[in-house]
Amino acid sequence: ARYEAGRGWYDARLTQYGPLPMEPGTAALHYAQSIFEGLKAYAQPDGSVATFRPEANAARFARSADRLAMPQVPEESFLAAVDALVDADRDWVPTGPDQTLYLRPYMLASESFLGVRPANEYLFLVIASPAGAYFPRGVHPVSVFVSEDYVRAAPGGTGDVKCAGNYAASLRPQQQASELGCDQVVYLDAVERRYIEELGGMNLFFVLGSGEDAELVTPELSGTLLPGITRDSLMTVARELGHRVAERKVTLDEWRSGALDGSITESFACGTAAVITPVGQVKARTGDFTVGDGSSGPLTMRLREALLDIQHGRVADTRGWLHRVG
Ligand code: PMP
Repeated sequence: ARYEAGRGWYDARLTQYGPLPMEPGTAALHYAQSIFEGLKAYAQPDGSVATFRPEANAARFARSADRLAMPQVPEESFLAAVDALVDADRDWVPTGPDQTLYLRPYMLASESFLGVRPANEYLFLVIASPAGAYFPRGVHPVSVFVSEDYVRAAPGGTGDVKCAGNYAASLRPQQQASELGCDQVVYLDAVERRYIEELGGMNLFFVLGSGEDAELVTPELSGTLLPGITRDSLMTVARELGHRVAERKVTLDEWRSGALDGSITESFACGTAAVITPVGQVKARTGDFTVGDGSSGPLTMRLREALLDIQHGRVADTRGWLHRVG
């Protein structure tokens, strides 16, 4: 759909995937006035298709739009656009184990001008792509590099919104992590460079203790780490399974000493793309360490199965998290 100041949203339509005509002066290309979301559609055992908590994506999108001085896409329009695309692409929703249709709603400033000001014209689009299982050959732990040179965002910046610029800033640290042989970057807080924030595209959890008494800890929302929908869902699922969950500040030193003395038994990252990814090796300038024995921990794998079971409709949706399409 298109937006023009004074006119509002218009021209909502479903079209074939193809090039997007735009002027060289398009504001989004110069000032990154651009926001996005990521969610998935899951084939259900009864043959229907459902998305997972799309209302939460619509709400986060609304916050992102507000921070980037963009117009609001009403929740019902956001949901209707995603539904229309999933419905049109029904045959592309894979039915294999852990396979999904990934959906990418986004909005960009489409007006052409060179001054630095909010644009008067916008495009809201949703595109889709089938996504295979993130771990086609079984879940394996990732290695992470703690970036002490770069932060994702400063307080007051755009850290906890899903805008293009944050991801542009994350490419160099991600490249640095890859050069050091690591899969992902871990960011620290921008002010003290002490507290763990998140990965480039996933939130982090730490498991304290083991068995039925195992507790989960995840960094509290800081204003710079992204409030992940998977993070939020897992806190609920873990509590329902009887585990205590705390949101609080966690320092890098605490993570390292906990891993070394065995009080932190597991660590995992979570997000829409990878669901849950165990974290094995941690590389940091102040000292490398391994979490547990470096393999996937039992609570990590239990939570992973529990969430996948909900998303793929293998257990009853007691929380109303599945949104049926069509
Ligand atoms: N942090 C960042 C920086 C992300 O890009 C994402 C992916 N949206 C997440 C965390 C996880 O969020 P979600 O669970 O909503 O996918």
